[in-house]
Amino acid sequence: MFKGILIDKVDGKISAQVTQIDEASLPEGDVTVAVEYSTLNYKDALAINHGAPVVRSFPMVPGIDLVGQVTESSSTDFPVGSRVLLNGWGVGEGRWGGLAQTARVKSEWLVPLPDSIDARNAMAIGTAGYTAMLCVMGLERQGVKPEDGEILVTGAAGGVGSVAIALLAKLGYTVVALTGRPEERDYLIGLGATDILDRKEMSEPGRPLARERWAGVIDVVGSHVLANACASTQYGGTVTACGLAGGMDFPSSVAPFILRGVKLIGIDSVMAPRALRIEAWQRLADDLDLTKLGDISKEISLDDAIAASAQILAGKLRGRVLVKLS
Ligand code: NDP
Repeated sequence: MFKGILIDKVDGKISAQVTQIDEASLPEGDVTVAVEYSTLNYKDALAINHGAPVVRSFPMVPGIDLVGQVTESSSTDFPVGSRVLLNGWGVGEGRWGGLAQTARVKSEWLVPLPDSIDARNAMAIGTAGYTAMLCVMGLERQGVKPEDGEILVTGAAGGVGSVAIALLAKLGYTVVALTGRPEERDYLIGLGATDILDRKEMSEPGRPLARERWAGVIDVVGSHVLANACASTQYGGTVTACGLAGGMDFPSSVAPFILRGVKLIGIDSVMAPRALRIEAWQRLADDLDLTKLGDISKEISLDDAIAASAQILAGKLRGRVLVKLS
């Protein structure tokens, strides 16, 4: 038996509880992992509290991230004792995930844990940090350079936003943080932001084109914030869109794209190819100031994870939430 969160649906009602789970009920897979840490992402909070639209079958162990040590394996890439991490691939959604002491997964989903990142820091980074790195790489691949001007990061006090700020600042970019929580000013400045914008300034319907300000944007919010970010991006600048914290809609016009050559780049972490993941994790090992993670992460036990997930949905938790499993 091992301990984990199990989400179930009985008579159409979703429930989540911390419980003992029988190893015999683990799904098929060529690698079994003793999970050391998982995290609570926004998606996990949705899964635990509402099931839909994240969970695709029941019962389900949530947790889209995990890190741990291989305990059983028929994979030559990941023998017993290997340190591994996993982000996405539908675990915690359609396959049992990381919010349990044991996980059984497919070896092709695993990334070797880089030597310079320990298990705790790997989950302090988690899908949020790995997605932030994919966004930064998205800007770089479009040629956005520190000398081009300011980079806007939206949803700044959240998981993706926090790591994006720390990464961009370390790489020499000038970062402006958009937040609905002005009380987090000191925290955001500490991460490396040079200026703070109130979310209200960008969350209402705006003009198709506004003053050209941003050389690049990392947006986790969507909706009017994304539309206004595109409208205020410099000629030839790049906007990366990875989230929908403010809404799934995109009430924009084509004006920024056809009159200013603005590029809108979609970022997906879940099904990203393995080579890109390995590159992103190596970049995180090289470019993220890991001492910042102490400021952006908070550790809780599995027993506290369900209550913490409700706080995430209520927008009351900042940064990354680590769940210690072993
Ligand atoms: P968090 O909950 O940690 O942060 C989201 C942040 O968005 C909040 O901290 C808040 O920032 C801001 N926010 C919340 N609600 C609203 C709102 N109604 N309007 C405007 N801003 C809002 O989530 P993550 O950082 O982990 O994820 C951010 C988004 O990115 C989510 O939508 C998530 O689903 C998505 N995501 C996508 C991935 C992909 O592969 N494409 C991977 C990972 C995440 P503040 O308080 O500073 O205003």
